[in-house]
Amino acid sequence: MRILVLSDIHANLEALDACLASAPSFDAVVNLGDIVGYGASPNEVAKRSRDVGKIFVRGNHDKAATGLIDLNDFNPMAAAAAIWTRDQLTEENLDWLGALPHGPVSLPDFPQVQLVHGSPNDEDEYVVSLGDALAPLIALNVPLTFFGHTHLQGGFFANGSSADGFRPEYRTVGQAESVPLQLKPATRYLINPGSVGQPRDGDWRAAFALFDTDAQVVHFHRTPYNLKGAQDRIFAAKLPPRLATRLAAGR
Ligand code: ZN
Repeated sequence: MRILVLSDIHANLEALDACLASAPSFDAVVNLGDIVGYGASPNEVAKRSRDVGKIFVRGNHDKAATGLIDLNDFNPMAAAAAIWTRDQLTEENLDWLGALPHGPVSLPDFPQVQLVHGSPNDEDEYVVSLGDALAPLIALNVPLTFFGHTHLQGGFFANGSSADGFRPEYRTVGQAESVPLQLKPATRYLINPGSVGQPRDGDWRAAFALFDTDAQVVHFHRTPYNLKGAQDRIFAAKLPPRLATRLAAGR
């Protein structure tokens, strides 16, 4: 089975469409949350996600947009975007986003794989460094956990003798590319597919991953998308302009 792993779409319809168009064939789509927030197409992205998706976990921005958390925990730019998003969302999309489950969620056919937004211990925790990853890696009782939240493509592994982090290395800065990671036996992984709609690893291209369960390979992908289209919508919506300009830098 080939599973498309999407995370942190953040209401960027142009980026989501590019990922769906450039992904090799897949059998199912899983989504690690932050479907909305920051970008200017929350209803379109919620609907598209629901139409293609199979399994979801909620993100902190999904909670913010549906009133499940206090916006005092958000920086002013994120809070402004959350309020705007809440105003825009249809009742149907608000209900759907508000009912998304808390992680970890296991894949029904693959109990050795789980999905979380932040970390397995705390859905709002950022796993940025190997130091952040060690405690969850040691505690994991499944070999493969997909996580999001940091908007940084790559991840961490631990086996009997070592633990380290990794990032896919690409050759270009503007073309569609993929980098495979062969999973090894007796190793635990925390893998981030990267952010579809607001990458923060210095690469502006939309990020996603494709997990081939038979071959035990995770393919990391980057794809160019209609950046200007996404930016123009953010300007037109009068969202904070920085939410548009940061997309070009991938920060
Ligand atoms: Zn996010």
